[in-house]
Amino acid sequence: MADEEKFDAVVVGAGPAGTAAAITMAKAGLQVELLERGTKPGSKNVMGGILYHHDLEEIVGDIWKEAPLARPIIEERRWMMTPEAAIGFDYKNLRNRMKPHSYSVLRAPFDAWFAEQAEKAGAVVVPETVVDRLIVKNSRVVGVGTGRGDDVYAEVVIVCEGIGLGAGLLEKTVINGQPLRRKLRPNEVAMAVKEIMQLDPGLIEERFNCERGEGCSIECFGDSTMGMAGFMFIYTNKDTLSVGGGALLSQFNETLRSPNDLMEHFKNHSAVKPLLRGAETVEYLAHLIPEGGYRGIPKVYGPGYLVCGDAAMLSNPVHREGSNLAMESGRLAGETVIHAKEVDDFSERRLAEYKGRLDNSWIMADMRKYDGAVPLLEHNPQMLTKYPQVLDRALDEFFRVDGESKWGKQSIILKMLRKEGMFRMGWDTLKALWTMK
Ligand SMILES: Cc1cc2nc3c(=O)[nH]c(=O)nc-3n(C[C@H](O)[C@H](O)[C@H](O)COP(=O)(O)OP(=O)(O)OC[C@H]3O[C@@H](n4cnc5c(N)ncnc54)[C@H](O)[C@@H]3O)c2cc1C
Repeated sequence: MADEEKFDAVVVGAGPAGTAAAITMAKAGLQVELLERGTKPGSKNVMGGILYHHDLEEIVGDIWKEAPLARPIIEERRWMMTPEAAIGFDYKNLRNRMKPHSYSVLRAPFDAWFAEQAEKAGAVVVPETVVDRLIVKNSRVVGVGTGRGDDVYAEVVIVCEGIGLGAGLLEKTVINGQPLRRKLRPNEVAMAVKEIMQLDPGLIEERFNCERGEGCSIECFGDSTMGMAGFMFIYTNKDTLSVGGGALLSQFNETLRSPNDLMEHFKNHSAVKPLLRGAETVEYLAHLIPEGGYRGIPKVYGPGYLVCGDAAMLSNPVHREGSNLAMESGRLAGETVIHAKEVDDFSERRLAEYKGRLDNSWIMADMRKYDGAVPLLEHNPQMLTKYPQVLDRALDEFFRVDGESKWGKQSIILKMLRKEGMFRMGWDTLKALWTMK
């Protein structure tokens, strides 16, 4: 491609981050190409998933209402599980009927719809194209090489490739002797699996206590992940359930467990099994989730490139958020390139504005706040094993009618909690969660 034909920006990957960046720039009249390796955007993507419309609306405006979202989430359930119990916290928020903010979603239809909006805004969307290298000239990224054998040049390459098990573009590309992102450690990523299970919509509503068209999310900790740091989930779609979850890759390696062991263990728990009865698995997917926290974030800009979404390790597993950080970071990267184009300066110094925009956004505030969350669970396995079991025994004592007086029960429970160190653990956890930064 001759120099005058080069794009303002080439975006690698049509996930939430890449498409958000492409829409933002194309709307401002920039020449943008969005490259996606899947046969269609979304065909390779995995997500629980719950999508939050706030950031989507910022990018596409009112048209977000036309997105293929499955069910608005009216009820959030959290269960702490032991082998013999599920201790629940259920929050049915009826305000969500009038003013929902989160929706169950299947990524195949959603990503395809989102990429269509990029095309409508004027971006060139090219599926079935694997970017196999970033082209570096004079210590600057100047374009990408594709599996089709052609090279595409641009002022800026926005890397939104997500994260995978193998080395991605950032790890493979070296500038001045340094890779653009170091190799990820197994305790910085969760291995996640998901099954899409078909079930009649009426049965979904009956079993999950939903009104017609409404949805529910269940997230399960403790025994659900066999005590590993992570969680399992069930999300209600229109006529399917998304069932899955994940845990730190390092803990899979240490315990020699497989993602399949985890799924079978969860699906066969007595509190889960009846919810899934008769549901047929129609798809099985596996993927990584970045969990390196604030300290795991690589350099997100450099000469000729920006990095967004999962590729930049932007995710908040505590709040089950990733797609919104991806969209927002894509939007901020897009705005940075728009400004660079306005002032006709694509230098690294100018592109560093993206880091400033991220630092001033809720994304980095949240990333900083939860930096220690995953290590807290990783180094205190008792929080997901022993302590739920003590709580389970205490609740069993409290509810069981067996001839013991309530005074007697109170004293048994207090003794048990004190002996097992539950008061200290509760206080330490509250303190850790509250002051986390
Ligand atoms: C099981 C699971 C459940 C999740 N649940 C939730 C949830 O409920 N809510 C939530 O907000 N987040 C959730 N997440 C996280 C969320 O999926 C991610 O944070 C989000 O998808 C990140 O978007 P992204 O665009 O950065 O990356 P991705 O969505 O991974 O998109 C990357 C895109 O790049 C393409 N690509 C990769 N390499 C190349 C290449 N070399 N050339 C061309 N194209 C390429 C891929 O095909 C893909 O389309 C979940 C993740 C998993 C795995």
